[in-house]
Amino acid sequence: MHIVFMGPPGSGKGTQAVRLAKHLQVPHLSTGDMLRAAKQQESPLGVEAASYMDHGNLAPDDLVVEVLISRIQQPDCAGGMLLDGFPRTIKQAMALDEHLAQIGKHVDLVVELEVPESVLIERIMSRQGNRADDNRATIHNRFEVYQRQTTPLRGYYVNQRRLAKIDGTGSMDEVFARVRGAVDAIPQK
Ligand code: AMP
Repeated sequence: MHIVFMGPPGSGKGTQAVRLAKHLQVPHLSTGDMLRAAKQQESPLGVEAASYMDHGNLAPDDLVVEVLISRIQQPDCAGGMLLDGFPRTIKQAMALDEHLAQIGKHVDLVVELEVPESVLIERIMSRQGNRADDNRATIHNRFEVYQRQTTPLRGYYVNQRRLAKIDGTGSMDEVFARVRGAVDAIPQK
């Protein structure tokens, strides 16, 4: 099972993605986590990524695609994976599709968590201080970047009939029940 999670900052995407990955027993792959780890190690890739992340901008497609594809070539991803925060651009989505097609696989489901902006801002401000990119100016930019660069993916995945829009409001358990409902509805081959 290959599942992609999309959602604006504060949508609960990370929490739900971790939970679903556990439930399905597939690796949880977060490009944000990978880039933060590289930043902490101060590797050349990490230093480059940090210059984008710290301002709430997307890291370059080529850089992120390389990091992600080399990770999904690891043996633990043979049975599927849950992608959290990747793809974030059409170019990344195309690179992912191309790679999966080469190994006879495809994305089974794209979950997009939908949460009104007022709720998103409230949620992010209440976790302020935990992340370097959680300050007011950067948050604002991350929203804009999501609207401008990531929401075009909706159309891409709607055309493929893979997109499930999930109401991301309510408790974590309520949202998870909706996410599971979407996964259970994936047609079995
Ligand atoms: P996240 O933890 O998913 O919110 O990601 C944190 C930051 O890492 C983002 O604001 C971007 O700067 C960078 N990042 C994570 N995933 C990607 C991606 N797929 N493409 C480009 N940049 C990314």
